[in-house]
Amino acid sequence: MRPIISAELVNGAFGDPALYLDFRFERRALLLDLGDIAALPPRKILRLSDVFVSHAHMDHFSGFDRLVRVSLGRGGEVRLYGPPAFVDQVEHKLAAYTWNLVERYPGDFTLLVHEVAPDWSVRAARFRSRRSFAREALPDEGSPDGVLLEEDQFRLRTAFLDHGIACLGFAFEEKAHVNVWRNRLAEMGLPVGPWLNDLKRAVAEGLPDHTPIRGWALGELKARALQIVPGQKLAYVTDLVYSAQNEARIARLAADADLLFIESVFLSSEAEHAARKLHLTAAQAGRIARTARARAVIPFHFSPRYLGREAELRAELERTRAALST
Ligand SMILES: [Zn+2]
Ligand SMILES: [Zn+2]
Repeated sequence: MRPIISAELVNGAFGDPALYLDFRFERRALLLDLGDIAALPPRKILRLSDVFVSHAHMDHFSGFDRLVRVSLGRGGEVRLYGPPAFVDQVEHKLAAYTWNLVERYPGDFTLLVHEVAPDWSVRAARFRSRRSFAREALPDEGSPDGVLLEEDQFRLRTAFLDHGIACLGFAFEEKAHVNVWRNRLAEMGLPVGPWLNDLKRAVAEGLPDHTPIRGWALGELKARALQIVPGQKLAYVTDLVYSAQNEARIARLAADADLLFIESVFLSSEAEHAARKLHLTAAQAGRIARTARARAVIPFHFSPRYLGREAELRAELERTRAALST
């Protein structure tokens, strides 16, 4: 089964972090981190519905200006998510410009900004161009177990990582696809109809097999009339120090991910420097990927000192993954 999104690092392995997640069947995209996005054409920026920022170091957040500039005239709404203090940081960025003419623009471009705390409470605020981006408080929300966004087809989960400051990692979890065998349904004497949506929802929510639906046990319906294809999982973690706590948190967030994007900033010959900078070496990234049982790994956020030597970083990561698996 093809995943519902395709994933692309906007600036490759050396440039500012920004991972563009494009929905294959919709005109919609998500962005994980908001570094320099000059390489994204406006039509791709205008497809963004939700942008998740790991932390506000410049290389992860300086694309904010381009996002606002391209979106300003079009109206619409973009949701932003970030770590503690993020709402203030967005407010301060917006306050650095003069907005006296924007109320004449045709649309009312709106930013809905969410800031998640380690207790999973979420503070939210709205900034509208028609109001010159004055901050409007919204009711607090929650993100149970780190789920920032829950939709029919997927959920977006976060985890707190230690980078000297709080830094968010993200996982895009596609929900299972449920296909119905209509002929087998007919053999069971069951009609097609809207009740199948309830059935699919019961499967997606993981209700117990004895749950009754239309006179049958859910488990029986699953075994006889449904084909359940597990969804794909993509995880993205960057900017973290190597520690047991970070490793455990990523192992949980990225457990069994089909694809793991993980920073691999330095070679292990410079492990001390990496620790001082609160970043991972490629070997540490490989070890974490192995612990999380990630099926495929894409390293990125390479230090520019390795320009022309990226093969060494990739080889070190893969060597560590392989060595630990034997
Ligand atoms: Zn960084
Ligand atoms: Zn950083």
